[in-house]
Amino acid sequence: MNFELTEEERVFRDELRRFFAANPPPRGEESAEYRRLLADHGWQTMHWPMEYGGQGASHFKQVVLKEEAFHHEVALGAAGPNLIGPTLIVHGSEEQRARHLPPIAAAEVVWCQGFSEPGAGSDLASLSTRAVRDGDEYVVNGQKIWTSNAHLAQWIFMLARTDPDAPKHRGISYLMVDMSSPGVTVRPLLQLTGHHGFNEVFFDDVRVPVANRVGEEDRGWYVATTTLDFERSGIERVLTADRDLGRLEDWWRESPSTFTSRPGAPSKRARVAELRVAVEVSRLLSYRVAWMQSRALVPNHEASMTKMYASDVGQWVAQLVVNAAGLAGNLRPEEPRAPQGGAPAMRYMDSVRLTIGQGTGEIQRNVIATRGLGLPRG
Ligand SMILES: Cc1cc2nc3c(=O)[nH]c(=O)nc-3n(C[C@H](O)[C@H](O)[C@H](O)COP(=O)(O)OP(=O)(O)OC[C@H]3O[C@@H](n4cnc5c(N)ncnc54)[C@H](O)[C@@H]3O)c2cc1C
Repeated sequence: MNFELTEEERVFRDELRRFFAANPPPRGEESAEYRRLLADHGWQTMHWPMEYGGQGASHFKQVVLKEEAFHHEVALGAAGPNLIGPTLIVHGSEEQRARHLPPIAAAEVVWCQGFSEPGAGSDLASLSTRAVRDGDEYVVNGQKIWTSNAHLAQWIFMLARTDPDAPKHRGISYLMVDMSSPGVTVRPLLQLTGHHGFNEVFFDDVRVPVANRVGEEDRGWYVATTTLDFERSGIERVLTADRDLGRLEDWWRESPSTFTSRPGAPSKRARVAELRVAVEVSRLLSYRVAWMQSRALVPNHEASMTKMYASDVGQWVAQLVVNAAGLAGNLRPEEPRAPQGGAPAMRYMDSVRLTIGQGTGEIQRNVIATRGLGLPRG
């Protein structure tokens, strides 16, 4: 395994640095205009094959893009370029690709993922949203939950049960639904931090053309596993932990008395060192997944190790940051005495989600134990 960048990747990194320096992203809310500027360079979908408007970029090149974008606080597109786009490239019809891929590549459309339901998260195949065939349409009824960005999205890709009598993995179909269809209702779910990231989505007699089904009827589970495979690799979690720890290190260096005057400072300093090692290990685990992908190897328990460790490390770092800041570290940004503008408390609250989304820590441990270590199930 060699983690050094190639000459091409180094040149690309320098190009990105120059671009972000010359075109700083707007602060605050995500900007559609800026997303389109990145799309003009082909960066939203550079991992797609050339025949579908991508650049066939290597997995390491994508890591370079993600790292540079993160350092410059640039949000890259998520569900469209990374989940439904690649899924359509594998399983979609020519008509579906022709209709949906160009607007995703041009960052003209926002997609969301409607998989989880109140009774189906880790055990996704037990989902109960129903799609009943009526001529050239399905009539969809049911509820999705934790749907990120549903309040911003024009389209949702979702799973619905088309055969309730079949074994649970076999009676599911994969549908693309226009969010403006009559009968779709989006309700916000606010996070601890007050941020609005996800939602509940209700379907009441929503009519969906059969032409919007991806793959065969009742075989949607196999399409969904492709989507989930695209979801599992990712360096973003490592970068968040790296940034948060880096900010704590800077703060400690710049105002040492804030920390050294507090009880337990030496043990906290040692913890900073431990977590710096953990962040670097986490980064290498993530590089290993990209390295495997670039050799057409399929990361399985390796992707689970990366996800599990990076989300644990993210929470450990957030805990250390809030503890190191002392009691005032618990204050929210609206409190004038909150250190660092309330960032420690906000990061701590935000870190709770890390071990839940994209497969919980327990599910990742199950994968590592059974598929990685060969331990028996049950
Ligand atoms: C930030 C974030 C964004 C999300 N965005 C989306 C989205 O856009 N679209 C979408 O569809 N979903 C989304 N989700 C939902 C996410 O996929 C689910 O929360 C996740 O799959 C867990 O499902 P659950 O919440 O129903 O918990 P459950 O599956 O009910 O799990 C509850 C607890 O039981 C444990 N558990 C369950 N099964 C086992 C087992 N077999 N062995 C050991 N322990 C087990 C779990 O680890 C967990 O601790 C998002 C979640 C988060 C946190």
